[in-house]
Amino acid sequence: MSHPLLDLAPLSAEHFASIERRIGAVLRTDADVIVMQGEALLPLEGCIRGAARPGSTALNVITGPYGQTFGGWLRDSGANVIDIEVPYHTSASAEAVRRALAEHPETELVSLVHAEAATGNTNPVGPIGAVVREHGALLMLDAVASVAAEPLETDRWGVDLCVIGAQKAMGGPAGVSAVSVSERAWERIRTNPNAPRRSYLSLLDWKERWIDTGRTALPHAPAQLEMLALEACVRRIEENGGLDSSIARHRATAAAMRAGAEALTGQGGEGLRPYVTDARDAAPVATTLRAPDSLDARELVTAALAAAPPNSRALPLAAGGGALGREMIRVNHYGPDATPGTVVRVLTALAEALNAAGVRADLDAASTAAESAWSGPAE
Ligand SMILES: *Cc1c(COP(=O)(O)O)cnc(C)c1O
Repeated sequence: MSHPLLDLAPLSAEHFASIERRIGAVLRTDADVIVMQGEALLPLEGCIRGAARPGSTALNVITGPYGQTFGGWLRDSGANVIDIEVPYHTSASAEAVRRALAEHPETELVSLVHAEAATGNTNPVGPIGAVVREHGALLMLDAVASVAAEPLETDRWGVDLCVIGAQKAMGGPAGVSAVSVSERAWERIRTNPNAPRRSYLSLLDWKERWIDTGRTALPHAPAQLEMLALEACVRRIEENGGLDSSIARHRATAAAMRAGAEALTGQGGEGLRPYVTDARDAAPVATTLRAPDSLDARELVTAALAAAPPNSRALPLAAGGGALGREMIRVNHYGPDATPGTVVRVLTALAEALNAAGVRADLDAASTAAESAWSGPAE
């Protein structure tokens, strides 16, 4: 009757706290870390509803769909929201944030997404964080798609609220997530009369019932399987060369994917090309591609998925979300898919789909370009 997923010994408070310490090291922070018992949208919403006081001003940097979502929560919290929207094929700049803060000196909170898996761009958090800290506002960062794929320096960059999930570059479970909270952020949340209390979204409940009591008694039954999976994925990263090695692998994969895609059909609107124009703005976690003008990205993705050999690991390919669906192809090469093998399999499937649709694709040229761009560890 025994089952590997069932009848486990309860997860102790001490064990839970030890997993939080490991996550603090991943985030490079000495601030309070809470592992939240739900997907990353839970702490993201908790941070915004906790830190955005009614009547205050918040600056929301939008570089993809998550920024749009944050704007909705900020408005719903009663904040006056200043949106800086950046075209999704580029990234935000510290200069644009500096100008916006100068125009709106009353700004108390800045929300920013680090890497956007959905649009394939990444933002320079270090320089933006320095501008925000100099101004004095709090900085909230969504680092779900950047953690373990590129450097994340929560304390050094002055990030007050940093949210991660484990299901992307960490190769871990999707059902738990984590947030770090600086002293300045706790002060803000404590003095916000509308901060969630006695709620699933409440960071303050965790502080009072868990952190301030020495992390000795869990406030409720934890998501035990996900907590164990989270610990296992951190351990696996450590055993495979640590965060630096994971970051190098994701960077090499993105470089190979970009070079391979560029070489597949050659340049111009007739062919496939990187969606994010400048390679420096491209996220290591996922590569977005612009479909040839003559083709619909959704149809190309469907054909490429059908071209993949049966019984192999599913290709991490998708069309862009919503309005981007016609023009954007997403290659989600993260976690176990951040390998040269995945890049070659994706290029092979795309070549077959392109050739079938009448767009000439040269797989040999693409494979050679991908191989020479790959600078990471061998698979
Ligand atoms: C994937 C992703 C999320 C969503 O995380 P969930 O755990 O699915 O809620 C949030 N933000 C960014 C930038 C992401 O890429």
